Amino acid sequence: MKIGVYPGTFDPVTHGHTDIITRSLRVFDKVIVAVAPNPAKHPLFNLAERLDMVTLVMKDVDQVEVITFDGLLVDYVERAGAHAIIRGLRAISDFEHEFQMALINRKLARHVETVFLMPSEEYSYLSSTIIKDVAHHGGSLAEFLHPEVARRLHERIRSLKS
Ligand code: ADP
Repeated sequence: MKIGVYPGTFDPVTHGHTDIITRSLRVFDKVIVAVAPNPAKHPLFNLAERLDMVTLVMKDVDQVEVITFDGLLVDYVERAGAHAIIRGLRAISDFEHEFQMALINRKLARHVETVFLMPSEEYSYLSSTIIKDVAHHGGSLAEFLHPEVARRLHERIRSLKS
């Protein structure tokens, strides 16, 4: 059984992320979505909230498990008995950072590969950061987020403004 680990901040999970998960399942038998605390990114949602939203969005897909992890990603990948790290590649702008991470992870754990998948064009410009910006200015999120995730994001932004 081929297992892939898809790590990220998921603040919050978007259709871009779910597109990558769906594509991963064409290559892997099981995908573990690993939600990272990532305090350096100052997430809008705490770790439990982010985990809960990814779990909600993926609830109908049996081959997906959603967990949180702390520490070195490659340690988690080895502990989970997984074969590869999955990352999404949007535009050229993602490349430099992703290339650096893939190579450092390979140095840390020689047999852990990183697999890059490209999203559908309609999601290639989508990022959690852009989404938070749109939400902040009251824009519609229907095309980018699961309705419940959109509701929680609007609610969080409203509570921050009041
Ligand atoms: P991180 O903080 O690790 O970059 P993100 O949640 O921002 O966490 O992203 C997790 C992964 O999903 C990264 O590989 C990122 O490039 C990818 N990703 C995010 N949004 C999209 C998208 N719209 N299309 C394809 N990949 C995406």
